[in-house]
Amino acid sequence: MAKLIDGKMISQQIKDELKEKVAALKETGKEIGMAVIQVGNDPASSVYVGNKKKACEYIGIRSESYELPEETTQDELLSLIEKLNADEKIHGILVQLPVPKHIDEDTIIKAISPKKDVDGFHPQSVGALSIGQPGFVSCTPAGVIQLLKRTGIEIEGKECVVIGRSNIVGKPMSLLLLRENGTVTITHSKTKDLKEVCKRADILVVAIGRPKMIDASYVKEGAVVIDVGIHRDENNKLCGDVDFDSVEPIASSITPVPGGVGPMTIAMLMYNCVEAATMFD
Ligand code: NDP
Repeated sequence: MAKLIDGKMISQQIKDELKEKVAALKETGKEIGMAVIQVGNDPASSVYVGNKKKACEYIGIRSESYELPEETTQDELLSLIEKLNADEKIHGILVQLPVPKHIDEDTIIKAISPKKDVDGFHPQSVGALSIGQPGFVSCTPAGVIQLLKRTGIEIEGKECVVIGRSNIVGKPMSLLLLRENGTVTITHSKTKDLKEVCKRADILVVAIGRPKMIDASYVKEGAVVIDVGIHRDENNKLCGDVDFDSVEPIASSITPVPGGVGPMTIAMLMYNCVEAATMFD
């Protein structure tokens, strides 16, 4: 039976550490400010934005909320970002994605100053990660590294296989595992013999976006399995990209869904917000 990797507990630990750090920064006269921008009122986005604001409040970060109507133009959004880029009281800028279709996501991501890019999506942040320079790291993969480290799972020298090569999960995940001296293989929809490649993994990170696709036939006995996926199954229950019941008996450690990777994303966003106050000093 696999050991469960408790993302709920670890994310709370991180938030509590950050709370102390923010209090210490306040004593030196530094208050962290975050701008949280939502365009339109997509219900799922409103939930995410609400959770981010709550986390800021818990940690002691001042958040400024911008709830813009659906018909906001790209130019209007760009001029708000420009204003916030120049605002010394704002250390991080969060634009909740997706934005409405008439706004180009890439243009918005590039408009945010890399010094305030707490989501880690700006091309400069991604480039900095790949050449080992200071910059923000995409929150979900950064959270996976924290899960591994804080449960005492060594990455150095391990065979790490990542399923998925998206810009927000798979690619930065691979770069982070490489930074930790893992031997990394990235797989995707054109990979031949996916099962065979996955079976080499000591650490298998699954970000494929397909409910319960990865069962025990993809997993080596004793592997660590990290499930990034989030879906609702046929009974409306949350599930991941991994078939938990099939994989759990043979893995050495596994993240559950919910309560694994999910809670880490916001914790690492808060980590980036706190870093934003000092990273480029
Ligand atoms: P994407 O859909 O952007 O990427 C999926 C990746 O999986 C692609 O690289 C794709 O390959 C690959 N893939 C799809 N089908 C196959 C297949 N049959 N065999 C091999 N590779 C395949 O997803 P994301 O990276 O954004 O997200 C992945 C999962 O993680 C989703 O379930 C999402 O909901 C979840 N997620 C969870 C977060 C959290 O906070 N816990 C945050 C972000 C995402 P190709 O590039 O060739 O198309």
